[in-house]
Parts: sequence; C-alpha cells; structure tokens
Amino acid sequence: MDHFDYRNGELYAEELPIARIAEEVGTPVYIYSRATLERHARVFRDGLKDLPSVHCAFAVKSNPNVAVLKVLKEQGFGADVVSEGEMRRALAAGIPAEDIVFSGVGKTRHELTHALEAGVGQFNLESEEEGVELAGIAARKGLTANCALRVNPDVEAGTHEKISTGKAENKFGVPYDRAAEIFDRLARLPGMNLRGLAVHIGSQLQSLDPLEAAFGRMGALMEAIRAEGHHITHMDLGGGVGVPYKQGEVFPSLEDYGAMVARVCKDWGVTLMFEPGRVITGNSGVLVTEVIRVKQGVHSPFVVVDAAMNDLARPAMYDAWHDFQAVHPRGDHFIASVVGPICESSDTFAKNREIDRVEAGDLAVFRTAGAYGATMANTYNSRPLVPEVLVSGEKFAVVADRIEPETILAAERVPDWL
Ligand SMILES: *Cc1c(COP(=O)(O)O)cnc(C)c1O
Repeated sequence: MDHFDYRNGELYAEELPIARIAEEVGTPVYIYSRATLERHARVFRDGLKDLPSVHCAFAVKSNPNVAVLKVLKEQGFGADVVSEGEMRRALAAGIPAEDIVFSGVGKTRHELTHALEAGVGQFNLESEEEGVELAGIAARKGLTANCALRVNPDVEAGTHEKISTGKAENKFGVPYDRAAEIFDRLARLPGMNLRGLAVHIGSQLQSLDPLEAAFGRMGALMEAIRAEGHHITHMDLGGGVGVPYKQGEVFPSLEDYGAMVARVCKDWGVTLMFEPGRVITGNSGVLVTEVIRVKQGVHSPFVVVDAAMNDLARPAMYDAWHDFQAVHPRGDHFIASVVGPICESSDTFAKNREIDRVEAGDLAVFRTAGAYGATMANTYNSRPLVPEVLVSGEKFAVVADRIEPETILAAERVPDWL
C-alpha cells in the first residue's frame, strides 16, 4: 500500500500531480511520500505490539535523506548507521544519540572515537578485533561502550548473492561456533558493556523462514552465553524484510513478521531491536523521469529516458526490477527496452518489457525507488546528482538539491606543475 495513485488518468503523489513537481523541479527527481513513510513505520511497530520491549532503528543506508529521517524520528524510530556520515545525518534529524546503533564491518578508529564521544546507544561489533579496539578507546576515556556482538548464523537468506550477509563465507559478524568464546573474552574488557547479540542475514528476503531459522539459532546461542553467567539484555534482529517490486509479487506482511518474531523471541527477556530499511522506504518513493526519445531497435524500440544507472543503480547492480509507468498513460502498451543515456550497456532499466506506450517528452516513473535509490546515486558521466522531493498532502519541498556538474568541477584542481 502506498500513496502514489492515478486520478483522472494522471499519477499523483498524495494530493499532488507528479507532473507539477516535475515541471517545477525538473527531471530526473526522486519523490517521497510522507504519508507512506509514516504508514509503514506505524505498521512495522503495530506488528510488534505483543512484544514487551522493542527498539526500532531505521537503517539509514536505505534512504539517508535528513527529511526522511526526521519523518521516521517523529514515528519513534532511532537509526541504524554504518558510517560517521550517517551518524551525523541521524543526529542532524534530531534522533537522540542513545537511539543510534552503529553497525558496519569497517568502523575506523576515528569513527569509533567520535561515536563514543557522541554517546551512541549501541555498537554492533563485527569482530573480536573491533571489540578490543573499542574497549581500549572507551577505557582510556573513562567511558563505557554499550555493545552487541554480531553473529553470522550461517543460514541461506534466499536473496540476491550481493545482498546476502548471513552465510559463513560472508564478511559480516563472528562465526556462530566461536561466538560464545569471543563474547566471554570481550565481556571481561574494561570499557566494554557487552549486553547482547545482533544478527542480519541479508536484504530483500521474500520468505520469513531464513529469518526464523536465524532467530532460533540466536536464541540458542543467547541461552548458552547466559548459562556461562553473562547478562544479555538486548537482542538485535536486524532488518531484511523484502518488498514487492513487480505487480502481483507476494511478500510476507509485517503482521506475519511480527507474529513470527513473537513466536520465536517473546520469552527471551530482552529488549528486541530491529533495523528495518527497505520495508519502510521502498515503496515510499518513485524516480520520475522524462522520455528523451524513442529509438528504433532490432527487436523492439528503446525508450531512452533522462534517468540513468547513476541515479538508480539497482537494475545495473542487482538485475533488479522496477515497474515503469507513464505519468499520463495513453491507454495502450508496447514492448520496449527502457535505457538511460550512460555509455554502458548495463544502463538498462527494462529489457523487452511490456510497458505503457510512451513518446518523447512523456513523464514516467520507476516505482518502489525509495530504498537504495538516491542513496546510491553518483555523478558518473558527469551527470548531476539527482534531487529529492518530499510530498506531504498538498505540500512538497525539495529536500535535496540537484548538484550540478559545475559544483563538482569546482572541487577539482589542476596542479600548477601541469
Ligand atoms: C542494510 C542493513 C539493514 C537494513 O536492511 P533492509 O533489507 O533494508 O531492511 C539492517 N541492518 C544492517 C546491519 C544492514 O547492513
């Protein structure tokens, strides 16, 4: 469910015609719907209402726009961050430091120090080495780092290889079989308050079964660690719930997810922590684009649009599907490939797909572009950095400017010895 709907034959974002925003801001442009973000935040929480103690931290990497973070903060969400830059964004949105979880396999000494000084609520440690380093920094400063140990449960997430994180060969977390001994050693370090375990097996999961298997394994590990006399008060269950990208695809509901969590984890006697990203932001955003021209192809025409793989990388990176829809549908369809202007064949959004018939100058959208969209944008081919708009009812605001190639050029230097 989202708030992008056709009215009188034209696509709206909440109460606003998308064409009006495109006219004022230009294309390509991301449009986010505040009501959709709020709805998903609410539904996610409602699904967990039977659990005694819950902490939700939005996975900032899925959509780090500070206005989006502010919307989710108002819904009671903290932030799961993976860099100092993301931490600064969360703080800028008014998210209290204690509601921030710092994840990520390569936190630098500099980042650990700054996050500790900022009072970040929890560090999810990805290795024993990281824990030793963090405890050392904390002890020297007379501080205590609240931590959870990320464990790699060695389960098959059943998603795209590039977004699977919970198999033994992946770089994330400590091996399941060694987790208890590592926990024991880290928990004894001065400066360390090792209070829990964390798990995140991957993104865009279409089934709850791998999550249930992973949570079951984490529960058993928690019991084993407790039996050795350690206190575990927090269990971080990560994110990963997928969303449909194609019309008709079926994904688990957040109600089903909450019921599964309750079934497996209700009696753990901990605060359960969650790090949802895509399921909150995915269909809260669309990428609006204009058709530059329709070019004859050998098999089918190419619809050349003004958005490209630098604006929305998922199709090029993960062979991902985004529904392509005209803003003013002409009422018929054709088979075409949708491509961007970048000089790579991977700059392809759809191959020989049946889509709304479009012509040069028409507006169209890529749906479900609110997660892992603008956040992965870059300026390849010296294209502008794509702007972002937030809609709320009849209002909209540009929440990230288009950054022109001249601005980037201005940051480059030709040394005087050239
Ligand atoms: C990416 C990530 C998430 C969010 O994943 P989604 O699939 O967007 O819900 C949560 N936790 C960690 C540690 C991550 O790396």
